[in-house]
Amino acid sequence: MNEADAQRVASLLESAGLHPVADAKNAAFLLINTCVVRQQAEDKIYKRLRYTAQLKHRNPDLVIALMGCLVGRIPHEHDALRERFPWIDLFLPPSDVQPLKAYLQEQGFPLPPDMAADDFLPAPLPRSQSGQRIVVHVPAVMGCSHACTYCVIPYRRGREHSRPSADILAEIRSLAGQGVREVVLLGQIVDRYGLDAPGEILLPELLRQTAAIPGILRVRFLTSHPAWITPELIEAVASTPQLCPYFEIPVQAGSDAILAAMRRGYNAADYENLIAGIRAAIPQAGLSTDIIVGFPGETDAMFAETATLMERVAPDMIRIAKYSPRPLTWSSRHLPDDVPEAEKERRRILLETALRERLTHKHAALVGQAVEILVETIEPSGRRHGRTPDYKPVFVDRSSAQPGELIRVRVTWAGPFSLIAEPA
Ligand code: SF4
Repeated sequence: MNEADAQRVASLLESAGLHPVADAKNAAFLLINTCVVRQQAEDKIYKRLRYTAQLKHRNPDLVIALMGCLVGRIPHEHDALRERFPWIDLFLPPSDVQPLKAYLQEQGFPLPPDMAADDFLPAPLPRSQSGQRIVVHVPAVMGCSHACTYCVIPYRRGREHSRPSADILAEIRSLAGQGVREVVLLGQIVDRYGLDAPGEILLPELLRQTAAIPGILRVRFLTSHPAWITPELIEAVASTPQLCPYFEIPVQAGSDAILAAMRRGYNAADYENLIAGIRAAIPQAGLSTDIIVGFPGETDAMFAETATLMERVAPDMIRIAKYSPRPLTWSSRHLPDDVPEAEKERRRILLETALRERLTHKHAALVGQAVEILVETIEPSGRRHGRTPDYKPVFVDRSSAQPGELIRVRVTWAGPFSLIAEPA
């Protein structure tokens, strides 16, 4: 979602006549988009902000904007930020470009008419002048109302609401006209698309209509929630060739006690059954999941349940986070952060090592096989980069294919997290 917001801001700035520079030292305008989902991400922002203070000291005309979850949607929190970081000129809540539009208009930058409108959403269409974009993230559901006990997102991005499908589809038609070939529809729980808006179409139909747009070759969606994936959604992916067979479904833990403490709304058996159902309908489906290790009260035995669930479910990717208490969340207010840091790290390494070994073994079978990729970029060495339908990164040697082309390639080397190939 942050990447989508950043793309939109970049497009807005470029439309106003600004151009990207490679080094922040040479910029007249700097915008930092922020994530506070984990303490580590938040610490990174403070480091960057200290650096921007030095830049402002050297160049008092530099305009600095701060966007995203650190800013949040609560106005009195902006005052506190203003006090803490007095060298920042503009504060933008997540996905909200209004303060930036107002600033640009105030400064006399010419905005195209559709961008000068006083709307909150949709944000301006990405219209990069700095390079062809093949893959674009398009927000479908904003915010989240689920309130998992550890999660700060509902406090930062606000309540769940779906964008009108007419706006989303119009935006994607425009993107396709600008050369975009793959669209990723986004939501914190993307499967809930349309449920908050009476009369709106639901995700399976939105995906089908997106896939039918001329020029769009691939469609993905993320992130799914195990309790909200429907048989209709699985059927839409199974029966629509442009819909990539790839599901991002965070499980977070394999222990039912921890899942209950997280208030995730399912247990480990529900998750396993869901994945079995997806694989029965779509045998080639790729699966990615998220795990939090060291949630308050997680014992060795509870962690072992997570590790064995991962062996049984065998995802193609696991994003592993170490629990960190986030301000305002239920877990930070009511549960002691009682798993020592060293133990969290030990658990993280155990999961990562098992994943690496399993994928090394699984991917070895791909050597010599042909796979299809959508070429996204050309590296300075001439190597093409793209992904398989189930989201494995592939680097292609000796290819003359251009970004945006779907090509068949033969795998010549396979590692746990990427493949190397040549034209088939
Ligand atoms: S579903 Fe839970 S983890 Fe995901 S954004 Fe909403 S509250 Fe956070």
